[in-house]
This record gives sequence, structure tokens and C-alpha cells, in this order.
Amino acid sequence: MLPTFTYIKPTTLDQAVRELATPGARACSGGTDLLGCLRDRVFTAEKLVSLNGLTELRGVTELANGGLRIGALTTLTEVATHALIGAKYQVLAAAAAAAASPQLRNQGTIGGNICQRPRCWYYRGDFACARKGGDICFAKEGENQLHAIFGGDVCVMVHPSDTAPALMALDASVRLVGPRGTRTVPMGEFFVLPSKDHTRETVVEPGELVTELVLPPPPALAVSTYRKLRARGAWDFAITGAAVALGLRGKKIESARVVLSGVAPVPWRVEAAEKELVGHELSDALIERAAQRASANATPLSGNAYKVALVRGAVAEALSDLRDKG
Ligand SMILES: Cc1cc2nc3c(=O)[nH]c(=O)nc-3n(C[C@H](O)[C@H](O)[C@H](O)COP(=O)(O)OP(=O)(O)OC[C@H]3O[C@@H](n4cnc5c(N)ncnc54)[C@H](O)[C@@H]3O)c2cc1C
Repeated sequence: MLPTFTYIKPTTLDQAVRELATPGARACSGGTDLLGCLRDRVFTAEKLVSLNGLTELRGVTELANGGLRIGALTTLTEVATHALIGAKYQVLAAAAAAAASPQLRNQGTIGGNICQRPRCWYYRGDFACARKGGDICFAKEGENQLHAIFGGDVCVMVHPSDTAPALMALDASVRLVGPRGTRTVPMGEFFVLPSKDHTRETVVEPGELVTELVLPPPPALAVSTYRKLRARGAWDFAITGAAVALGLRGKKIESARVVLSGVAPVPWRVEAAEKELVGHELSDALIERAAQRASANATPLSGNAYKVALVRGAVAEALSDLRDKG
């Protein structure tokens, strides 16, 4: 059963920021993650501040520089089916389409998707784990088949969003508004590793909210894709995924982004794989080398060594897909 809380639906950003700055307040967009957390007593809330009255946070707008602004309240379905996103930022359309189920994509927003809480069964269960302020990460010595093979530290949860690695591969930025005004944070700096602070997943401060995602214009010749590996064909989180974006001159790779999902507490960029790709044309040998690089520094736990091979496979399949398209 849901606990008792106050529900408020501001109609202006100023009002939303004021309401969010009060103790115990939490932002609610689609509610598909938040309400489950409250029902399961993962954390508490005194007040839910619905963002749904803030119409300026909805929709996709093309920018004068050729980039794109995506309002935080834009649903995953809208992101997955938007013509411009599909044409210019395929990796994001594919990632949004691969997230959750049709019902969840209709209700869940892109702002909520990048701010959703970890899915670790200890965190979601009745355990006072490190991320909830306890002393122990139970997954380290416990059931850790779905946990991190990179970047785990005091906590080995994996970041659950499919759109976040795609946004990172596209060099997107996050715009935030809060009691101290507005700021813009590159996606690469938005997520927080456990070694820095294991009690939070993002740099969003209390009282702040995400208002929009900003995508820079893609290179003149660009291809991108998202390969997601999961236990079931639908309604399931990534066990491993690879978001890959390439800028090309002819067939030669001029810029590369390779960002993994499902394997680290944050979307995991693998610059070693990117460096391997730049300056070359995609060939079987290059794809193999880049895929090897992507998995090279993994430190698997007792139950998840299989993910190392999945990383190689996801990166190789994403790159092969791009070669076939190019
Ligand atoms: C069964 C199931 C399967 C799923 N599978 C996948 C999957 O495969 N891939 C995937 O990526 N996701 C998956 N999800 C997660 C789902 O996509 C998210 O629940 C959804 O995207 C969250 O969006 P929302 O608008 O409902 O967020 P909410 O539930 O409203 O909010 C989520 C969190 O973000 C905060 N928040 C919301 N909006 C903002 C904002 N604008 N600024 C700051 N903080 C904010 C809230 O306070 C809350 O903590 C799954 C969820 C379920 C229940």
C-alpha cells in the first residue's frame, strides 16, 4: 500500500522549485518508478510535486544551430517515435524504444528515465544496504549476477536507464533549475560514481529538477545505434547494452562514442574502444579489436563474469550494424 503524502501540481516552474525546496518533497513526472519505490518503502516522501502542469517541459524543438531540445516531460514513446530524433539521433530513438513496455513508455518521461533509482534487489528489498545509508553492499558477496563489472566500489549496482547511455553517446547536456537558478551539466558529468558518493546517483541537488535535454547538432555524416541484451524480449532492463555514435568522412571514422549500459553504476564510456575506432574504416578486424577494448578492464564479481563476453558481443553487434548501414 502507498504511504500517505501530500500531492501538489504546480502550474509554473517557480512554484515547482519552491515546493520542491521544502523538506521531504520529491518530483513526480510519470510516477512509474517513484510510486513503486514509495509503495515498497525504498524511501519516503512527505510531498509529491507533480511536474505534469508544467507544459513548457513537454515536447521536442529543433534549435537554430541544428541541435535539439527535448523537454524533461516528453514521454519515452514520443522520443522513440519522433521523426527528427529517428532521422538524426537514431541511438536515442532506439534506446527509448527498447526501454520497458509500451504502457511504461507512454507514461514514463525522459527526465524521469535518467533520474530513476537503482534496480538492485537489495536496494529495492528490505535491506539496509550501503546506498540506503547502511554499511554493506550485500551484492558484493551475495546475489550479483546482474551487477556491475566496471566502476563498482562501495556499491555494485548498475545504472538502469537505456536512454542515458544514448544521450551520453550523443554528447547531450542536461538543463536543471533549482533554488539557486539554472545550470547546464554535460551528460558525462551528470551521474555520480559510488567512489565519489554512494548515496546518490546524479548531481541533482535537493530542490532541483531536470527541465530539458539538449542535443548538439550531429556531425554532417553520422550514424548511431543501440544494442540491448536482456533476459526477455520486452519489459526488461539491459543486462548489457552498447550505445555507439560515429561521425564519418566517407567511410573513415572521424569521431566515436561507445557507452555501455547495464554494467556499471553509471553509463560507462569506454574511451579505449573509441580511440581504437577513430581514423579507420569499419572492418571485421577493427570491430573485433574495439569490442575487445570495451571489455578489457572489467572486474567481474562471483556471479557475473558472463557479462564480459556480453560487452564484447553488444559492442561488436552495434558496430556491425553501423557498418551494414553505412
Ligand atoms: C517493470 C518495469 C520495467 C522497466 N524497464 C526499463 C527498461 O528496460 N529500461 C529503462 O530505461 N527503464 C525501464 N524502466 C524504468 C522506466 O522507464 C522508468 O520508470 C521511467 O522512465 C521513469 O519515468 P517517470 O516519468 O515515470 O519517472 P518518475 O517515476 O516520475 O520519477 C522517477 C525518479 O526521477 C525523479 N524525477 C522525475 N522527473 C524528474 C525531473 N524532471 N527532474 C528531477 N527528478 C525527476 C523522481 O523524483 C523519481 O525519483 C522500467 C520500469 C518498470 C516499472
